[in-house]
Amino acid sequence: MTTSSHTPVLIIGSGPAGLTAAIYAARAGYTPTVVGGYEFGGQLMLTTRVENFPGFPDGIMGPELMTAMRQQVENAGAKLVDRNVSKVDFSSRPFRIYVEDEEYVADAVIIATGASAKWLGLESEKRLQGRGVSSCAVCDGSFFKDQDVVVVGGGDVAMEDSLYLSKIAKSVTVVHRRDKLRASHILQQRAFTQPKIRFVWNAVVEEILGEKKVEGVKVKDVKTGQVSVIRCSGVFVSIGHQPNTELFKNYIQLDEKGYAVAKERTMSSVEGVFLAGDVADHVYRQAVTAAGSGCMAALDAVRYLEVTRGHQ
Ligand code: NAP
Repeated sequence: MTTSSHTPVLIIGSGPAGLTAAIYAARAGYTPTVVGGYEFGGQLMLTTRVENFPGFPDGIMGPELMTAMRQQVENAGAKLVDRNVSKVDFSSRPFRIYVEDEEYVADAVIIATGASAKWLGLESEKRLQGRGVSSCAVCDGSFFKDQDVVVVGGGDVAMEDSLYLSKIAKSVTVVHRRDKLRASHILQQRAFTQPKIRFVWNAVVEEILGEKKVEGVKVKDVKTGQVSVIRCSGVFVSIGHQPNTELFKNYIQLDEKGYAVAKERTMSSVEGVFLAGDVADHVYRQAVTAAGSGCMAALDAVRYLEVTRGHQ
């Protein structure tokens, strides 16, 4: 271990939840350290226009919104570390957080590590990742200009991805396991009226075909059992997310899906460790709710520090 530094509040994660928590903690006088990961900004860095974050009547690009939040955090005096947490130790106080060979000692921790894309779990999907299989249309869509692509899923993200890809690709085939979409009405309407998008209902992807690159998908009709092949050069898996809680599983309580469980307001099962954003939210999962919960976690952490310090 090369260095050890003390911080009153350490925030893990740099999406809207972590950055909003940082603004509130900094303004309360508890200059926080934000360990935001190598990929700063969370899921909004992978989106295009965000049209439902209040204050931007014409929408704002996801990366632009996150860059502005980061600027605000830096202006408030918080310290940002663009590296990953490798290990934590919440077994005693102060808490210990390891960032490669650096140790941070913190009186309160806010976990805002968000959630990551889920995969179908197929061997062929793993093998062809980066060779036509992707979970991020905005990142990889441009590789499929005038080609045929498949999008798997029926939620908001699957519809957003399909609409985005329809502007680049020759055709977009949405493969969904039911005959109804989960996506919001407005996105459904946009997808249904985009002539380049077609739907294959009640179907699951059994295999992604191709040796060195994607050549198609084998799909099974869940009602009839019939198997067919859709030729395509790209497959975008948009089937939701799983919470990034692996680092904390030995310390804080998680639910059966791996989401962190809040015990009292935003406090986790460990007193002094707070939760913000998608890591503890499988219901709302919006940028604005993540930001709101970041504010709540920071206010709870500040209150906790005031009470514990008052008792010292
Ligand atoms: P989601 O709403 O959980 O949808 C996941 C979709 O993938 C569902 O249609 C689901 O099918 C399907 N799916 C899940 N596991 C599957 C599997 N193993 N095989 C095949 N299909 C599978 O996730 P999301 O679309 O990523 O959205 C996440 C959250 O962000 C949601 O709350 C969403 O509303 C929100 N969001 C909002 C906006 C917006 O308001 N503009 C934009 C993006 C995201 P079933 O339907 O059968 O369960």
